Amino acid sequence: MIDQIREIRARAKREERPEDYVATWKEYEPFKGKKRSFVLVLRTHGCFWFYHSGCSMCGYFSDTNPTPVSGKNIITQVEKARKFYSGEEVVKIYNSGSFLDPNEIDPDTQVKIIESFPEAERIIIETRPEFINEDNLDRLGDFKERLMIAIGLESSNDNVLKYSINKGFTSLLYLERASMAKNKGFSIKTYILLKPPFLTEHQAIEDSINSAIFSSNVSDIISLNPVNVQNFTLVERLWNEGYYRPPWLWSVVEVLKRTSNLKKVVSFPTAPGSLRGAHNCKGCDDYIIRAIEDFSFEQDPEIIENLPECECKKKWEKIINFEKLSFTTIGDQ
Ligand code: SF4
Ligand SMILES: [Zn+2]
Repeated sequence: MIDQIREIRARAKREERPEDYVATWKEYEPFKGKKRSFVLVLRTHGCFWFYHSGCSMCGYFSDTNPTPVSGKNIITQVEKARKFYSGEEVVKIYNSGSFLDPNEIDPDTQVKIIESFPEAERIIIETRPEFINEDNLDRLGDFKERLMIAIGLESSNDNVLKYSINKGFTSLLYLERASMAKNKGFSIKTYILLKPPFLTEHQAIEDSINSAIFSSNVSDIISLNPVNVQNFTLVERLWNEGYYRPPWLWSVVEVLKRTSNLKKVVSFPTAPGSLRGAHNCKGCDDYIIRAIEDFSFEQDPEIIENLPECECKKKWEKIINFEKLSFTTIGDQ
C-alpha cells in the first residue's frame, strides 16, 4: 500500500498560491453549546508524513508549500487572517499537518500565533501524537486552559491504522501522548475516521464505535469524520475503480446513537450528500444531515432516535446484515 500511495502522491499537484496565502472561513463549533468559530489554514511545508507516504485518505498535500515556510512568513499569514477575525469565541488554527512539528512551525512562532488571539475562549490546533512531548507542552503551558489539542487517531485498531490508513503510529502512542497533555491540563479533541478503505460498512461502524470508547477517557470531544474522497489519494483510486463507497449517512447516525451515552461524540461530515462524501439518497440526505448537525450541538439522543424512515434505509440494512454474515470482524493485531 505504501508504494501505491507514494506513486499517487508523486502525481499530486499543489495549488499555486502567493507567498503569504492563508485561507479563512467561519463556522459553528460545539463548545459550551453552539459557538461561533474562526478557522484559518496556514500554508506551511505540510505534514512530514506526506513526504514519507501519507495517509490513504488525505489530500491536504495540495494546500502545502513545496519548501519550508519561515516563521516570519507564517506570522504575516496570521496578521492577514486576523483582518477577517471578529471576536469569534473559538479559533481553529490548521496547517495541513502538525502545529507542534518544529519543522513546520518553529517553536517561537507557535507561541506567537497563539498569542495573536487573546480574545478567543478556545483555540484548537492539530497535531500528530509524535509531537506531543514535555518540551512542547511546557512551552505552551500558559495557554493550557484555552488550548485544545486535536489528534487524528482515526481508529483504535492497529491493523486498521496500519493496513487501511497507513497512519504511521499506533493507538498506544496516541493514548500515551493524549494522556500526557490531558494530565497537564490541556483539552483533547480526537478525530475518528468512519470507513477507512478495505473495511465493510458493518466493520467500519463497529470500528468507529470501538475507537470512540477507546479514546473517550482522554478526550473532551470526539469528532467522527466520515471519509470523503479527496484528490490524489489511494481512496480516490479505489473509488474511481468501483472498490470504495463513502459511508452511508445511516452509518453516521448508527455510530452517534450507539455512542450517545459518552455525551461527547459529534460529526460534521465534509461534502455530505455528494458522491464523494457520506450520503444516502436524494430523498433523505438533507434531513439526515440536519439531524446529525443538530445532534452534534445539542447531544440530545431524541434528535437521531426517531428519524423519518426512507426507502434507502432498507437497502442499507440489507448491506449491513449481509456483511455481518459474510465477513468476520477485524481482529486486533
Ligand atoms: S491525515 Fe494527518 S497525519 Fe495523515 S497525511 Fe494527512 S495531515 Fe498527515
Ligand atoms: Zn434515503
